[in-house]
Amino acid sequence: MNVYDSERVGVMLINSGWHRSDNPEDADLIIINSCSVREKPLLKLFSCAGRYLPLKKKKGTLIFIMGCVAQQLGKEIVKKASYIDGVFGPGSEDQIPRVANSGKFPYISTEKKDLTREEIFPEESKGQFFEPYSAYVTIIHGCNNFCSYCIVPYVRGPEISRKASSIVDEINKLKDNGVLEVTLLGQNVNSYKDPETGMDFSDLLHIISEKCSLTRLRFVTSHPKDFNSKLAKTFSNIPELMPYLHLPAQSGSNNVLEKMKRRYTIEQYLEKMDMAKQSCPEISLSSDFIVGFPGETREDFEQTLELITNVGYDTIYAFNYSPRPMTKASEYKDDVATVEKFKRLNELLDRQKEMIPKVRSRYLDELQKILVESKSPKGDTFMGRSEHNLITHVIGSTEEDLGKILEVKITDILKNTLRGKKL
Ligand code: SAH
Ligand code: SF4
Repeated sequence: MNVYDSERVGVMLINSGWHRSDNPEDADLIIINSCSVREKPLLKLFSCAGRYLPLKKKKGTLIFIMGCVAQQLGKEIVKKASYIDGVFGPGSEDQIPRVANSGKFPYISTEKKDLTREEIFPEESKGQFFEPYSAYVTIIHGCNNFCSYCIVPYVRGPEISRKASSIVDEINKLKDNGVLEVTLLGQNVNSYKDPETGMDFSDLLHIISEKCSLTRLRFVTSHPKDFNSKLAKTFSNIPELMPYLHLPAQSGSNNVLEKMKRRYTIEQYLEKMDMAKQSCPEISLSSDFIVGFPGETREDFEQTLELITNVGYDTIYAFNYSPRPMTKASEYKDDVATVEKFKRLNELLDRQKEMIPKVRSRYLDELQKILVESKSPKGDTFMGRSEHNLITHVIGSTEEDLGKILEVKITDILKNTLRGKKL
């Protein structure tokens, strides 16, 4: 979501006469897009901003902060780091070009009412992108779920869906610019409701399929409590909907899930996964997990390990619990010691490492379609994503393959990625 927002601000600035620079030394304006979902990225924001202070002193480079920390801390940011020239909470980021040209600093905007607008960014900032072949499109912003650990509803405001007609227009513009793959974004895409027609998320997927005929379509994130059979069926009914589902479990223990206010049991979660598998047997599954939530016992944690073993996820993202201001869980005692949190996190990641060769062995010697997107960081191959959303290095690929979908025979299951030969 931050990538999408950064792109929109970038395009707005370019439209108002600015140029993009890859080198901070050359820049007159540096904008840091921040995340406050855990404390670590919040701390990183200040060290990142501090790195640009010498530039500010040398040549007066403007430093702006946008994103969730801007909303969370507001003017505190300028109190803590007086060299920051602008603070823009989500919902007010469209003001950046005007403020950058105004010469009046510091500027702070964290108006809550800005978050309730259907369209945060102007029409002209849509449909252009920084990545040439794959793009994100936000369809719903904010969140109404208030999971007990999560700051998002407080900093991103209530759920607001964009009009289906605007979403379709935006995707068609992207397509005209050469984009092959679009990922629809929302904190909970299942809550999508078209403000014009009332259509739900599954209907939106069908409309996008009819009106945009993309090569690849994906979505993230679907909340397990709202994932339903109608949505599961879209995996078999919409050919361009890729076989990949991110369904964040957060924990394998019903006790913990209840305290997290996730509003599903692990049994219900597994039923939803089965729905998806019935509709798309080869579907690739992924999940987020939080370890060390207040009151999480060893037994609770072992249930999470068990879930990982039983489901066989292609990918997982795991985090130590981080108490966040304003949230319900911040009132609970953060009683799992930091050392224990790290121990559990490593154990969980080790379990997934053991699982990967088993889960991904189904790709070995098989043909996979890879959308080639960039040069591999090491070696002389190019790489891209498989339909199952796994990064794959393609032996025999060249620069000419960028933006093409290649048939690749998978030869190796590596630690984090796949490798295969171009046919
Ligand atoms: N809307 C998405 C997630 C958004 S936040 C969903 O419901 O799944 C992305 C991930 O950050 C969450 O899935 C969760 O695993 C993690 N997260 C959120 N708050 C956290 C916290 N306080 N501590 C640690 N991890 C957290
Ligand atoms: Fe946070 Fe829960 Fe909303 Fe996801 S669904 S953004 S975890 S409150």
